[in-house]
Amino acid sequence: MKVTEHIVKAKKSLFSFEILPPLRGCDIQDIFSTLDPLMEFHPPFIDVTYHREEFIYVEKENGLLQRKKISRRPGTVGICAAIMNKYRIDAVPHLICGGFNKQMTENALIDLNFLGINNVLVLRGDPLKSEKNFIAPKDGHKYAVELVKQVKNLNVGKYLDTTFLEKKESPLFDFCIGVAGYPEKHLEAPNMESDLFFLKKKVEAGADYIVTQMFFDNKKFFSFVKKCRSKGISIPIIPGIKPISSRNQLNGLPSRFYLNIPNELVKEVEKAKNKKNVIHVGIEWAIHQSKELKNSGVKVIHYYTMDRPENIYKIVQAIY
Ligand code: FAD
Repeated sequence: MKVTEHIVKAKKSLFSFEILPPLRGCDIQDIFSTLDPLMEFHPPFIDVTYHREEFIYVEKENGLLQRKKISRRPGTVGICAAIMNKYRIDAVPHLICGGFNKQMTENALIDLNFLGINNVLVLRGDPLKSEKNFIAPKDGHKYAVELVKQVKNLNVGKYLDTTFLEKKESPLFDFCIGVAGYPEKHLEAPNMESDLFFLKKKVEAGADYIVTQMFFDNKKFFSFVKKCRSKGISIPIIPGIKPISSRNQLNGLPSRFYLNIPNELVKEVEKAKNKKNVIHVGIEWAIHQSKELKNSGVKVIHYYTMDRPENIYKIVQAIY
C-alpha cells in the first residue's frame, strides 16, 4: 500500500520508523533485531536510508594510505524486500541523486517495481565529506526535484530512452513519492522563503507527501505546516522525531542539520549526570513532543531510530 493510502485510512496516529542499513559485514539479523520489538506498534511502513559511496583511507602493508571508494552501509533495496517479506508491511527505500546517473536511477526503479515496492522517498543526498558543496553526478540530477520528475515520468510510462523498449503501451510503475521538508529550513537555503519556494517545486513536480527533518520544538513544526499551507502546499506533512541520546549532540546536531535545540532541553541534558541520564532526558522530551503532535491530530509520526531502537521503543510505548 502507498504511504498516502495509509495516511488516508488512519483512524488514529500511526508510528513509522526509519532505519539505517547495517554496516558492511554485518547481518540482516541486525535489522530484524531492531524491528522485531517495534512491530508491536504496527507501523504502516518502514523507511530504509540510502548511503552513497564515500572515499575512505586504508593503510596498506607498506604503511602508505590508499584512497578507496566504498559504501559503508550497502543493502537498502535488499533490506526493503526482506522487511516486506518478513513482516508483510510496506518498506520505503530512500533514493538519492548523489552517485547515480539517470540510467542507474531508472534501473534501480525497475528493480523496486519488480520487487513490488511502490513507495520511494526522493532526496538529493548530502555532499561527500570530501566536497564543499553537493556535486551532481555526470548525467545525474542536481536537485531532488529533478529526481521527482524522473520517477513521475516513469509513472506515466516515459522511460529515458524508448529505442529498446519491448512494450510501449501501458505504464508499469505507480510510485508514491515522498520528499524532505525542513521546519527550520535546509542548511544551504539562504532563507525559509527560498526553501519553501523549492519545496513547492517538488510538490508541483509530483511529490505525494513530505517527511520533515528532525526538530525539537513542536512550534517550529506547526509553523512550518502553516507556512506550507499558505504557499499552497497541501500534501500530507509527516513530522520526523529523533530523541537526543548524547551530550555531544547539543552542538553536533545544530551544526550538521541547521536546527535549534530549546534552552530547556539543553539545560536538562547538561544537568544529567551520565550517559544513561542524558538518554532518559532525550526520551522524555520526545515523549512530550509526540504526545502534543498526536493530540494535534497528526496522522503519522516518523521516528529516526539511528541504530537506537530501544529508545524509540520507550517513546512509542508511552504514547501508543
Ligand atoms: P533538495 O530538495 O534538492 O534541496 C537541497 C537544497 O537546494 C535546499 O537548500 C533547497 O532550498 C535548494 N534547492 C532545491 N531546488 C533548487 C533549485 N532548483 N535551485 C536552487 N536551489 C534549489 N540523505 C542521504 O544521503 N540518504 C538518506 O537516506 C537520507 N534520508 C533523509 C530523510 C529525511 C526525512 C531527510 C529530511 C533527509 C534525508 N537525507 C538523506 C538528507 C538529505 O539528502 C539532505 O538533507 C540534503 O542535503 C538535501 O536533500 P533534499 O532532498 O532536501 O534536497
